[in-house]
Amino acid sequence: MSETVSTTSAGDEVHQEPGASRGVVSQAAEVVATARRAFDYGVTKPREWRVAQLRALRSLLVDHEDELAAALHADLGKSATEAWVTETGFVVREIDHTLRHLRAWTAPRRVRVPLSLAPGRAKVVREPLGVVLVIAPWNYPVQLCLAPLVGALAAGNAVVIKPSEVAPATSQVLGRLLPEHLDASAVHVVEGAVPETTALLAERFDHIFYTGNGTVGRVVLEAAARHLTPVTLELGGKSPAYVADDADLEVTARRLVWGKFTNAGQTCVAPDYVLASRATLDALKPLLVQAIQEAFGDDPAASADYGRIVDGRHFERLTALVDPARVVTGGRSDASSRYLEPTVVEVADPDDPRELVMGEEIFGPILPLVAVEGLDAAVGVVNRRDKPLALYVFTTSDEVRERFVRDTSSGALGFNIPLAHLAVPGLPFGGVGASGMGAYHGERSVALFSHDKAVLSMPTRPDTTVWVRPPFTSLKEQVIARVAFPGRRRPGGRS
Ligand code: NAD
Repeated sequence: MSETVSTTSAGDEVHQEPGASRGVVSQAAEVVATARRAFDYGVTKPREWRVAQLRALRSLLVDHEDELAAALHADLGKSATEAWVTETGFVVREIDHTLRHLRAWTAPRRVRVPLSLAPGRAKVVREPLGVVLVIAPWNYPVQLCLAPLVGALAAGNAVVIKPSEVAPATSQVLGRLLPEHLDASAVHVVEGAVPETTALLAERFDHIFYTGNGTVGRVVLEAAARHLTPVTLELGGKSPAYVADDADLEVTARRLVWGKFTNAGQTCVAPDYVLASRATLDALKPLLVQAIQEAFGDDPAASADYGRIVDGRHFERLTALVDPARVVTGGRSDASSRYLEPTVVEVADPDDPRELVMGEEIFGPILPLVAVEGLDAAVGVVNRRDKPLALYVFTTSDEVRERFVRDTSSGALGFNIPLAHLAVPGLPFGGVGASGMGAYHGERSVALFSHDKAVLSMPTRPDTTVWVRPPFTSLKEQVIARVAFPGRRRPGGRS
């Protein structure tokens, strides 16, 4: 089959992989053109419109909670409670927080002008960027489509959303409900897979917000470079947890189990592996086994609260990691239901390439335990690897806390609790280095999807620019030296 060549809304030619149809490209072009028209007509800018959209989105989430929960169960085996806490209800809280502060976050902010520019007035005006593309992954398919949407709408943008094809039931529900409830001229959902995303990426957007893996992140960045479009990349990687010898091990075990096995480990900020001294690991092991039993019973396969692996490809990837590993607990699986038991394994040498669990991000219910000799060694393991999206430290010591704050870098640093930083709307959520660029949530989302425009306004009389315009007389030199740029030496020969 030969390559297809089609044309974007900007008139650029797109060379698509074999299999991508002209229809896919023209659909992307049409959607973006419609969204841009809505933005250009000023539909999305008034605060009333933004508030109405956020309220409509809130109603959608509350009124269709069951339908969304059913889709999340079909895709990931999520329980209805987990679906509400980590997805639907999470977005409702984000909407409520945004609505409460929207006026303040979007109001122009006065800025002091220097004496030399008096009586001028300066302010920062937050304006929407235009048309935003949100590309979402499958693991939290509601939250990761809609939390960025909240910020983009609150900032007054038109939005095109591309849900993940790997969570098809949720993609379909969002594809149906969003156009029914929101302003269909400005908010669009494009369902599909790589061809659809590729066609969208050929279009010109004013911001691209991508959540997913780093390989596709590079594809997104390259596509954005063609139009000089700013990009936020919410990526993943291995998020370590260090358990210090002074940690409260019972609570640590319960929280690690919660953080790791929520959504069957398919969480970007799940603790990927545990570092601790040999003695602490030996004490932690039975507590982890007990905590798994407490959370999911004797047979986690029968627990309504334990999820499933999203598809066969990921199931096979994960079971291939378990097979060669030294299993402490768990390890059983069932391909037909994509079930993989909560599993804890031991790793002898984290730098040995044969330790497959220490290669890529696990992104599943396997928790490796890695023995290290003390705090310095733990910091060393963290710093030898890519900067993580999250780093967790379980300790009761201020010194240990200080050490991690000072000597490590990560998107977030959680002491004695995994995952929960996401739920603090005032905290930025995002990565650093290989775990991503840019951050959102709360006011940061509104700032991210806005341009802070500098506005300076000067009265025409008195015309104070006379002091900085040639000819530079001695009097002007004095004014410049004393008022406009104090500290400058008076130029010689002109006094
Ligand atoms: P995915 O496979 O659903 O892909 C994400 C999106 O990229 C989809 O919409 C898909 O259509 C699109 N896509 C895939 N291949 C493409 C290509 N070749 N060209 C253009 N578009 C393409 O999700 P995933 O990447 O498997 O997600 C898991 C990863 O995301 C993990 O690494 C995880 O840590 C990370 N993640 C990060 C966050 C965060 O907030 N930082 C949240 C969730 C997941």
